[in-house]
Amino acid sequence: MKYEITRDYISIGNSRSGQSIQNVQFIVSHDTGNPGSSAYGNRNYFENTNPTASAHTFIDDRYILEIIPLDEKAWHVRYNVSTDNRRYGANANDAAIGVELCYGGNISFQEAYKRYVWYHAYLIDKFNLDPDEDIIGHSMLDPSRRTDPQNAMNRYGVSWNDFLNDVEQAYRKYFEGEESLPEPVVGGASVQLPIGKGDSGEFVRDIQKDLIQAGYSLPAYGADSVFGSETERAVMRFQRDYNLAVDGLVGQQTLGKLKEVTSASKPSTDFPLPGGILQKGDEGPEVKQVQRALKRLNFDPRYIDGIYGSLTEDAVARFQSMFSALDNDGIYGPNTRRFMEMELEDM
Ligand SMILES: [Zn+2]
Repeated sequence: MKYEITRDYISIGNSRSGQSIQNVQFIVSHDTGNPGSSAYGNRNYFENTNPTASAHTFIDDRYILEIIPLDEKAWHVRYNVSTDNRRYGANANDAAIGVELCYGGNISFQEAYKRYVWYHAYLIDKFNLDPDEDIIGHSMLDPSRRTDPQNAMNRYGVSWNDFLNDVEQAYRKYFEGEESLPEPVVGGASVQLPIGKGDSGEFVRDIQKDLIQAGYSLPAYGADSVFGSETERAVMRFQRDYNLAVDGLVGQQTLGKLKEVTSASKPSTDFPLPGGILQKGDEGPEVKQVQRALKRLNFDPRYIDGIYGSLTEDAVARFQSMFSALDNDGIYGPNTRRFMEMELEDM
């Protein structure tokens, strides 16, 4: 084994229920959201404060620390999010291993990230999972509240796709026994901030998408993953508007501000949703908007005809039944709209 795994379990209590997981079907990747907090720092917190939340494993630059046995449930994703159910047919807490990346402060990102990648590959092997399908970020399951682990990775220039590629390579290298794959295992971490003119790759594309979403269009080349003059000018406009040093380089501060702005603004979606209340018997283009969105969300109303009939009502009710916060009344209103928007963003 490339790295040592330390098993130092916390006591049974709020954080560790002792309930068993029947079948591990996927991995939820997290970061701690608390820069500088170490693996053992987190263990101490969960042991002593004992909140009703937890994750199985905390990883920093020294330890891969399992604080909850992998055959027990940990509480790391809200139960009333639906993407886990839709994608895996189960709630994350009941069927997934939660892995936390420790970062920031004195923690060497490079070392922590290598262990984090390796450990994901280890879990893929151990539970016979598919590296393409069975790793999901916490933010993808709970987009209205969470940004992890992309938030931590992005600080160091690692995109979600870089991460998945790194896990897949680590899996092949360390667990599948293929020896022909090239070094380095950890590709993503070689991207260093600041990013500027002449850089290219997945991470540049992420920046470009964020710029566009923040209202700084790239009319000639779009999000083409190449940092050219157009991107540079957009970055400079962004920096000027937000009182940052105008250098056209995306460093820590510009990236942070960009994430702040884009997470605050709703991304433009192809499925705009109307305000107000719509229900059975209503007709018009607004009903059509709701029907299109339902279809996109796989709650197919059968006809996109602008008529709120029984089938549309049923599709709305089926969507509502996914969320304990919504009444299953088949009536489209502000709350249902909010949840539909969240789910559309998530796709
Ligand atoms: Zn998380």
